[in-house]
Amino acid sequence: MSKKLKCNKCGKEIKTIFLGKIKGTYVGKGKNKKVYCSECQKKL
Ligand SMILES: [Zn+2]
Repeated sequence: MSKKLKCNKCGKEIKTIFLGKIKGTYVGKGKNKKVYCSECQKKL
């Protein structure tokens, strides 16, 4: 449950809020799944 996520764009650590929710967004599926922090999400 303590797996650290890093933004695929800026490399910043993404905090998890609760129940697996993150302060950011997932894009894509499976191997191509990428994660972006809330800041980079705005610029997508
Ligand atoms: Zn970012």
